Amino acid sequence: MFFNEKIETMDRGDLDALIEERIRYTVKYASENSPFYKKWFKQQGINPSDVRTHEDLRELPLISGRTIREHQPPESTDFQFKSADWKEIFTLHETSGTSGTPKAFFFTWEDWGRYAEKYARNFVSQGFGPEDRVIVCASYGMNVGANTMTLAAHEVGMTIIPIGKCTFPSRVIMNYKPSAIVGSVFKLLGLARQMTNDNIPPHESSIQRLVVGGESFAEESRAYLSEIWGCEVYNTYGSTEGTMCGECTDMSGLHVPEDLVHLDIYDPQFKDFVPDGDCGRIVLTTLLPVGGKCGTLLLNYDTEDTTAVVTRNRCACGRTHMKILNPQRESETFWVAETPFNRVDVERGVFQRENMEYLTGEYEAFLYGGDDEGETIMRVSVECLNRETCDRQVVEENFLQAFFKYKPLLEEAHADGMFKIIFNFAAQKDLELYRIKGRPKRIVDRR
Ligand SMILES: [Zn+2]
Repeated sequence: MFFNEKIETMDRGDLDALIEERIRYTVKYASENSPFYKKWFKQQGINPSDVRTHEDLRELPLISGRTIREHQPPESTDFQFKSADWKEIFTLHETSGTSGTPKAFFFTWEDWGRYAEKYARNFVSQGFGPEDRVIVCASYGMNVGANTMTLAAHEVGMTIIPIGKCTFPSRVIMNYKPSAIVGSVFKLLGLARQMTNDNIPPHESSIQRLVVGGESFAEESRAYLSEIWGCEVYNTYGSTEGTMCGECTDMSGLHVPEDLVHLDIYDPQFKDFVPDGDCGRIVLTTLLPVGGKCGTLLLNYDTEDTTAVVTRNRCACGRTHMKILNPQRESETFWVAETPFNRVDVERGVFQRENMEYLTGEYEAFLYGGDDEGETIMRVSVECLNRETCDRQVVEENFLQAFFKYKPLLEEAHADGMFKIIFNFAAQKDLELYRIKGRPKRIVDRR
């Protein structure tokens, strides 16, 4: 039921007290061991011992990915976020570097233990145990996720099949009879198509659970994935910075490991926290247990992701740690007619159930300025299972209905001709994203 029952089911009052104790210790550790924070506290004129509660964090400035890049080579002579001696550092890691230079992260062996524990709690909360054989599609190498997840599997007693990517021969499924796969929504859809072509229907395979993460998705795409695999699909929100939140079997939000990472949700101006239930920006602070050592720690780090707190009350699964909505990336939010929409809104339009009779689910969209002042054109390309037999009218109507559902201003702009949506029905493997290496960028703003 639990990996660490005492911590995972701790009463709110005790949990909050533990968090504040760890905030005080982490701030002290940062001010003594991180060259960046040593200087930062001095520059801000802040006495680290004055930071006593999570509200006090609100008075400190925020840092971002850019801050980290500006304080590591080649911008600076040393890694100023490295907060332990080299002899304490076990491994070093890099973020994927989708937005420029990768950020360096240093891990002590203790950090490995804490990251693994976060994953282990998620696995157990999703019903995993020693009988499970799990294919990990997340990449190994410099990435921390797959590596620490593998250590977590050891803690839970599971067997790992460390393939490290989602393209592998169907015989792996046939021969080893894995019970679960960790991967991304689109890679798992692709794998299902491959297996179907190989006459191994995914829902008849040995797979009993899928764990997805690495990007936000529409509930519709999860539902479709769940349908074709015939099993539950659990969401996780992991990052090099250490979020590792995961859905439990209650599937009503992602539990945050509150004793190991502190998340504050800020308003768009970064002036104050938003009330629970309101959407805002996720700002992260590492939490260290008293006496702990850490290779890289972050205080008030702007993740550039948005979410809302679902609840801080005890979950039906027994856990007391707060739950958040599936986070979305701020960089995937676009504004048209003074209305924001996210990539996930486009995805919802694509994955309407009836559309999936004709589409693979792969899509991409481009935003352009029109001929008239203030006019925007969005070109949505969808990949067809068969371009000839695809019912384009059905797909377009379903898309528009879903896309405009909660966006009356966008719908108005569409009706007025100020926001044009053009559909392109692509043959398989004919989207632009197939020609670009790395994580696909599904919405490109060319205005
Ligand atoms: Zn739960």
